[in-house]
Amino acid sequence: MTVVIVFLGTSAATPTRSRGLPSIALKLGGEVLLFDVGEGTQHRMMAAGISPLRVSAIFITHLHGDHFFGLPGLLQSMAMNNRIKPLLIHGPPGISSFLEAVFKASGFQPPFRINVREGLSLKYRADRYVVESFQVCHTGRPALGYRYREKDKPGNIDVGRALKLGLKPGPLYRVLKEGRPVVLGGRVIRPEDVVGPPHKGLRIVYTGDTRPCSSVVEFSRGADVLIHESTFTSDYEEEAWEEGHSTARDAARVARAAGAGLLVLTHISARYQDSSPLLSEASSIYPFTLVAEDYMHLAIRGPW
Ligand SMILES: [Zn+2]
Ligand SMILES: [Zn+2]
Repeated sequence: MTVVIVFLGTSAATPTRSRGLPSIALKLGGEVLLFDVGEGTQHRMMAAGISPLRVSAIFITHLHGDHFFGLPGLLQSMAMNNRIKPLLIHGPPGISSFLEAVFKASGFQPPFRINVREGLSLKYRADRYVVESFQVCHTGRPALGYRYREKDKPGNIDVGRALKLGLKPGPLYRVLKEGRPVVLGGRVIRPEDVVGPPHKGLRIVYTGDTRPCSSVVEFSRGADVLIHESTFTSDYEEEAWEEGHSTARDAARVARAAGAGLLVLTHISARYQDSSPLLSEASSIYPFTLVAEDYMHLAIRGPW
């Protein structure tokens, strides 16, 4: 399956003419996962051709307005579009009381079920993937990053070796690929005898807002894509640190330390109309770097 990352909003704190507030959609076939819902997200989804009805789960990184003020409008539009499918919303403590206050003040109650899971260590398991949260280093308030991790796909059967053991293609191949031994003519054949190494599932990490942080390095080890905030260039290093943000140089160092595949910089301060200084700063340290732009699509082929 090809996973498509769609950057819906790539600005920091305030929108600009070309950048909306933070939101990233992960398109998994017909299903969509949303990471952060800055104000205006639903409009950008419309422009990107992403239906709110396809969103199965939302993951909010932290309760700074630029990352979640788009939630009430999106929920209301889901209701107007006759959504009946339940929706999962994950976020740090406080997200439930925010939603309750919105529903109480507006008198709007979604006609579909919303399951809110709030906490610092969240895990959402689906058949083929898991989304886990981890704490990042932002301001004094709780802030999370998220990792999308697919299960590894079993390796291929070495048919030549299997035939030598008298094992012809058939249902037993599947049993072995599932990791169970089979018995053939009184002899046990174990998966490791004939099954090659597993195909690694995709891993995509999104930091939300953070200073350079060891937990990001930890959770991004071996990630295919690391989407790291990069609010400033290092000319504003002190400001970045004080406000709990990263520079492009910080993000590149984290990507290098983690051995991530591709680094994508996002959460770009409104002061940069031209993002090339961020790109050149990061890519001098970590060459596999892109700066996210609104509506940018990244398609990554996974093993499934
Ligand atoms: Zn922010
Ligand atoms: Zn923030």
